[in-house]
Order: sequence, then structure tokens, then C-alpha cells
Amino acid sequence: MARINENYLKLPGAYLFSEVGKRAAKFQKENPDAKIIRLGIGDVTRPLPQVCIDAMKAAADEMGKVETFRGYGPEQGYPFLREKIAEFNYTKRGLDVKADEIFISDGSKCDCGNIQEIFSLDCKIALGDPVYPVYNDSNVMAGRTGNLKADGHFEGIVYLPYTAENNFSPEPPAEKVDMVYLCSPNNPTGTVLNKAALEKWVAYAKENDAVILYDAAYAAYITEENIPRSIYEVEGARDVAIEFRSFSKTAGFTGTRCGYIVIPEGLTGTTATGERVPLKKLWARRHTTKFNGTSYITQRGAAAIYSDEGQAQVKELVNYYLENARIIRESLSAAGLKTYGGINAPYIWLKTPDDIPSSWDFFDKLLHEKHIIGTPGAGFGPCGEGYLRLTSFNSRENTIEACKRLKK
Ligand SMILES: *Cc1c(COP(=O)(O)O)cnc(C)c1O
Repeated sequence: MARINENYLKLPGAYLFSEVGKRAAKFQKENPDAKIIRLGIGDVTRPLPQVCIDAMKAAADEMGKVETFRGYGPEQGYPFLREKIAEFNYTKRGLDVKADEIFISDGSKCDCGNIQEIFSLDCKIALGDPVYPVYNDSNVMAGRTGNLKADGHFEGIVYLPYTAENNFSPEPPAEKVDMVYLCSPNNPTGTVLNKAALEKWVAYAKENDAVILYDAAYAAYITEENIPRSIYEVEGARDVAIEFRSFSKTAGFTGTRCGYIVIPEGLTGTTATGERVPLKKLWARRHTTKFNGTSYITQRGAAAIYSDEGQAQVKELVNYYLENARIIRESLSAAGLKTYGGINAPYIWLKTPDDIPSSWDFFDKLLHEKHIIGTPGAGFGPCGEGYLRLTSFNSRENTIEACKRLKK
């Protein structure tokens, strides 16, 4: 009998985006002339930087000649890419991360979802509310939690509230946990954790022998000088933290697929008998067993952003979205609405007005009266109730048009 992994049945259906789609489709059907603008898009829309296109075309040509053809590459990624990442994102910024501590993957979602495999099912985890669902759901699937409770939380997980009251920077919990997921700049709130906050988390991790799983997928969007781009800017973080990065939001690679994970050499976990084992060794074993490398063409495309020209093109791309974010933020403020985020992230976290506390009600109001689609905050976790996520991934033209409607 092929018994299934019943942990999967603990997960509710993928309700959020299907419900958004359903309501939008119904409205469009009833109002065929309405020009709906989607500020709920969670995907980049601008084309790839030219340097990436050129590098991938050249790599494709190499694949077409017997002298330069390549089959399986190193599972951890080609040295040409790992070395550039180490140099541009770490060494040049005075951070100690070596190329052989970097593992290239086909994107950060997979890394964020797979990393929990190298930890015991007994580990207690903490993660944000609202949250990028991958951290939560991958642990539910693995069996590291109990059932879904009526309040929208799973039994056995420690939820860290990201709310206006704590400035979207949760304090470490009073209890001991073993794994902590942090995401900064944050999806969905668009807010960041500052250095003092990260220092507290690193201290907590040291004290509790915990591992921080730090998702920095939006690091390229940080505009404020004093906000850490990497957890390794905090002293001692190499002993307690794994970092996730992606080319998806940095260089428009959501459809091209490339990300990486940093596992410092000295970072360890323990066995039941207390023996310390390097996490890097476990991840290397997993990676070589279950993954056969990101395509050579893609890795060449990714590596192309690490030149003066590449950096300029990536900056232009990110700035396009950040300018949209600025326009949205300022228009909402002008309309008397309270917003968070959008300065160091492509996301704006909009507080619903006092007379419409429900995020779904406010979603409906925006759809019906302004023909604008956002994403109800409640869909990202109970603490997201009373908020709406708007994204800056639409075109400039549509963003400006949406803001005109919002101001009215
Ligand atoms: C988009 C995103 C990622 C990156 O996903 P990819 O699989 O690399 O495309 C990771 N974390 C968060 C929070 C994201 O929003």
C-alpha cells in the first residue's frame, strides 16, 4: 500500500491568489469596460539586462560546438560564478564569505524549502507572521508541526509578529527555538531589519544554539545606507546563520532561475549525543545527491551582472521598480493612507483605513471603486489582517494611472 505523507493534508488549499483571481475575474465579467490595474503582481515584469542576454547567447553557442560543449557541471555551481558572488557581494563589502561556502541553485524558493531537510524533525522553528509561505509550508510537509489551528497558525511553530506596533521588527521569543527564519527586506511587508535588530537575533541564536535562516532575496533593493545587505554584516553571524540570495528580483531571473545559499565553514548543528557536525557538509551531501546543477547557460547569464556594465544595468532595473514604489507610497500618503515599506523593497504594506478594518473588504473596495488589485494582507498570516500588499512590479505607466485613481 502506497501510504501518503499525510502532513501534506494539514495544509489548506492555495486560497489567496486563486481567490484574488476569482474576485477579479467576476468583477471584469460584470464590468467589461473597466481597465483593471494589477498592483498585486508578485513577479518582475522588466526584461533581462542586456549583459545577461549576451552572456547566455554566447554560452548557448559554446554548447553547440564539440570543443566547448559542457555536460554535467559541478553540483555546487561553476567557480566562475561562485567567485564573482563572493567578490562582489561579500569581499568587496568587507565581509568574510568564500567562494566554497556558496552553493548555486535554480532559485531561492527551492533552497528556502529544502534547507529544513538537514535538520531534525524535533527542531522547533520560529517564523514571521505575515510570512513568505515557503518557510511555513515546507516545515508542515516535513512533519515538524501539528495541525492548523482556527487562528490560522500551526501547532508547534513559534510565530513572530511583524506589526506596526513593533515597527515590523519582532523581538526574539522568550522561549528557546532551534531554527529562525528571517526575511529582510521583507516579503510581504516591504520593511527591513536594522543592524541592532539583527545583532539581537545573532545573540539569541548564540545563546540558544539556534540557526538563523536569513532570506535576503531583496538585498539589491536596499537604498538606506545603514541597513545591512547581509546577515554577515553582524559580528558573529558566521557562527549561526545561513543566507539565501537570488537573481530573481535582482536581475529579473524569476523565469530564468538562479539563486544561491551561503553556509559558512564553521557553522554546525549537533547530533543527539551532542557531537557537532558542519552544516555545510550536510548540505553538500544533499546537493550532490538530489541536485545536478543549474544550467551552464543560466550561470553565465548570472555571472554577467558582476561587471561595471552589469552592475549598472541591474541598478537601473531595480531603480525602475523602486521609483514605482516611491510613486505609490507618496500617492497613498497624499490620499491620507498610512503605508509601510517601499523604501528598501518593491512592496508597499498599506494599512486599511479605520472604517474598513478587513483586508478583504478593502481589497473589494479598491477593486470595485478604483479597479485596482492588491493582495489582502490576511492571506499572508493573521497579523496581516488590516493591511494590503501593493507591489511596484507593474509598468511605470500603469503605476502612475493607478496612483491617479487612488488620489481621487
Ligand atoms: C521571490 C522570493 C524569493 C526568491 O525566489 P526564487 O525561487 O529565487 O525566484 C525568495 N524569498 C522571498 C521572500 C521571495 O519573495
